[in-house]
Amino acid sequence: MKKVKVAKFGGTSMATSESIKIVKDIVKSDEERKFIVCSAPGKRFSDDIKVTDLLYELADEIIFHHRTDSFEPVAERFREIASGLDLSFSIDELLQKILKEMLEEETLEFIVSRGEYITAYILADVLDYEFIDAKDLIMFKGSKLDYTLTNKTARKALKNKEYVVIGGFYGSTLRGDIRLLTRGGADVTGALIARAVFARLYENWTDIDGFLVCDPRIVENPHLVELMTYKELRALSFMGASVIHSDTFYPVVKEGIPINARNTFNLACPGTLICDHVPASRSKDVITGIAGLSNFTLIIIEKHLMDDIPGFDRRILSFCEKLDIQVEHFPSGTDTFSMMIESKFLVGDKKETLINQIKKAMKPDTVEVFENISLISIVGRNLMANKYNMLKLFSALVNTNITLRMIDYGSNGTNIVIGVDDIDYDYAINAVYNEFVREDHER
Ligand code: ASP
Repeated sequence: MKKVKVAKFGGTSMATSESIKIVKDIVKSDEERKFIVCSAPGKRFSDDIKVTDLLYELADEIIFHHRTDSFEPVAERFREIASGLDLSFSIDELLQKILKEMLEEETLEFIVSRGEYITAYILADVLDYEFIDAKDLIMFKGSKLDYTLTNKTARKALKNKEYVVIGGFYGSTLRGDIRLLTRGGADVTGALIARAVFARLYENWTDIDGFLVCDPRIVENPHLVELMTYKELRALSFMGASVIHSDTFYPVVKEGIPINARNTFNLACPGTLICDHVPASRSKDVITGIAGLSNFTLIIIEKHLMDDIPGFDRRILSFCEKLDIQVEHFPSGTDTFSMMIESKFLVGDKKETLINQIKKAMKPDTVEVFENISLISIVGRNLMANKYNMLKLFSALVNTNITLRMIDYGSNGTNIVIGVDDIDYDYAINAVYNEFVREDHER
């Protein structure tokens, strides 16, 4: 791996001229920060509007109403930023040129992507780095990101380059049509560039310290996770914990590049380091995160001598597949087969249809349905190595009188998933946190 780092700065880091000056100091303080990726300006205060959202509005106006009223608030954001920086070009001229191009191109993707384009152009000037248009690096086939082609194209284009700024969130097809990644996708651009340049670290700078063990809206002052593996992060993001876009992992995992989530506005904090393996000396930190999702439905199917019927479970799962119902877990026992399903998949008459199909084809003795269930994933390392972990988990729940609806003991040792009633959700997360994390840290 080369001695280069890719640093990606999110929307809040690019929101004002002041924050951009902080970004400049960060970049310049480390010789290895040679490839910079940025988002469009985000919110300056809580009810502010992100530039990308303004651009979606503008695209709608241009394409459907042949009006450009929303261009002015976008231009104003960039003028405000430029006025606090000593740029070597005229921001008004650049904005006029971009507006003209928007009216010529008239596509949503082109119009929305200009947020990142202009921001990267400004940042390159501030840093005195080279601006490279992401359309020449991030490649799409149709509307799908082409990872292999992107890697090949970006690797070749950046081979002899250093000190470069690239706008995140967009790329293009081979014909040159601009395409967008999904929202928050500048993280993905950063990861793709990190892979392409063999970076030894991918830094993801936002306005929060890193990953917290659990949601601070549920647990007061949760600890920061200093170190976690890609696998643990995947398990947590799957359950809704988000600091980094979930598609980010693929390119960096492929190359084994660690990710460091950092806070632009709190340099004293080292953030969270996410890597392939955790050194043995750190494996004592058992829990890396506790995350969850509410609103699941549990369907329990009972039939005497179920095990003697070939393909019983498979047939039930195939009904779900045909109805486009995703089954999250299927805890089973003697003569019972159950399915934990996110309730959003059972809306309309889907639940009735599924149950009727099961009744008709499988002739079960009973089918029971429990709604309003939450799943909580306790993610960590070596969870199974210590038999007291299960004891600790059960005692945390028993002591707080929480009814356990399901338990799935992930066999790779990365996570244990429990099901509790929605009303016990916050309470259960606090109980598990106090038992495993708070007590350990305060010991
Ligand atoms: N600006 C885009 C968004 O708001 C992309 C990003 O910030 O990652 O979704």
